[in-house]
Amino acid sequence: MNRFSRKQFLNQLIVLVSTLSLFGGESAISGKESKPVPKTIPIPEGETPVSENEPTAQALGFHQDAIKTDYNLYPDRKLPEAKNQFCATCSQFTKINEGWGKCNILSKGLVSNHGWCSAWSKRY
Ligand code: SF4
Repeated sequence: MNRFSRKQFLNQLIVLVSTLSLFGGESAISGKESKPVPKTIPIPEGETPVSENEPTAQALGFHQDAIKTDYNLYPDRKLPEAKNQFCATCSQFTKINEGWGKCNILSKGLVSNHGWCSAWSKRY
C-alpha cells in the first residue's frame, strides 16, 4: 500500500466512523435496540442490587440491563414504542443516584436505571 492510498483509506475510515456515530453506532449496522449507553455508576454504599434470580424478579422477567430481556417472552418490549422503557422511566421507580433507584415492586435492593421488567408503567 503506498502512502497516498493509506491516506485515502484513513480519510474514508474517519468518515465512516463519524457517520456511524451520528446514526447510533452499532444499532445503525445491526438494527439492534437503541438505548442509552449504560454508565457504570457505583451502587450506593451499603446497598445491594435486586437479584435477577429472586422469585418475583424472575416472574416479572426483570433484568438489571434491559437489553437482556427475553424477547420471546416479552415481544412488546422490542417494539419501537417501547424503546424508552427502563426502570428510570417507570412509575414504580424512585431515583437514588444517577445509576440506581428503588422499585416499589422489587424492594429487596436497588434496580439499575437501565433495568426493565414486565410491570413497567410510564411515569407521569
Ligand atoms: S416495576 Fe418498574 S422500576 Fe420496578 S423493576 Fe419493573 S420496570 Fe423497573
